[in-house]
Amino acid sequence: MQEIDKQQQRTKVITSDDLTPTRQEAMVDTLVARGLVSGRTIQAMKSVPRDVFVPELFLDRSWEDSAIPIPCGQTLSQPSVVAAMTEALGIEARHRVLEIGTGSGYQTAVLARLCRYVYTIERYRSLMLEAEIKHRRLGLENIIYRYSDGWEGWVEQALFDRIIVTAALSESPSNLLAQLKPGGRLVAPLGKGAVQSLVAYEKSTDGDYRMDNLGEVRFVPLILGVAGEA
Ligand code: SAH
Repeated sequence: MQEIDKQQQRTKVITSDDLTPTRQEAMVDTLVARGLVSGRTIQAMKSVPRDVFVPELFLDRSWEDSAIPIPCGQTLSQPSVVAAMTEALGIEARHRVLEIGTGSGYQTAVLARLCRYVYTIERYRSLMLEAEIKHRRLGLENIIYRYSDGWEGWVEQALFDRIIVTAALSESPSNLLAQLKPGGRLVAPLGKGAVQSLVAYEKSTDGDYRMDNLGEVRFVPLILGVAGEA
């Protein structure tokens, strides 16, 4: 009898769900294998379930490396792009980060796991409110929301350690760069067409900027002004 119990226990251990990575973890492991994420970003991405931010119609695509449509004609960024942008920012735990384009709130949640405060701006009120509900559900309490035109930045809260723009800029973001601390970084898609360059600006202590091109990305365009009560 004892023998059978032991056998059953052993079998239970071997088939335990604990040994199988969740689909979320497996997705992030793929990004690690591709050299796209490292360090603290790995755990941050594993701890934010992407499916929470995916519309019900597309739930089965939650762990694919593809962008997903969200309401208001916008898109939830693909995981490899979220990984690349988060890595390029080089976020530290004490940082205050400004995000332009809350969208689904997925990138926001990853940032919130890594820094002290995220200040996020969205031009659709409905998207902003929806993202806020999801962040509450995940217990994220270090996100401050604003319904406004992100092109203006957030003057009252500047300067920021890091700035991320998740909609394509058609020109160099001088307003936003002015809201960056010396030594700070801004990561954004830059370009007028369907395909843009992902660029990273770094502000030196004497106020100069260095710009690196990190590769091609596809983002919806940044649109000036707010979108009314949509
Ligand atoms: N990181 C988001 C990306 C959403 S798509 C995600 O993964 O879900 C880009 C978002 O930028 C859209 O929600 C769009 O409404 C928003 N956006 C575009 N122009 C903006 C502006 N001027 N100010 C604030 N948000 C803007």
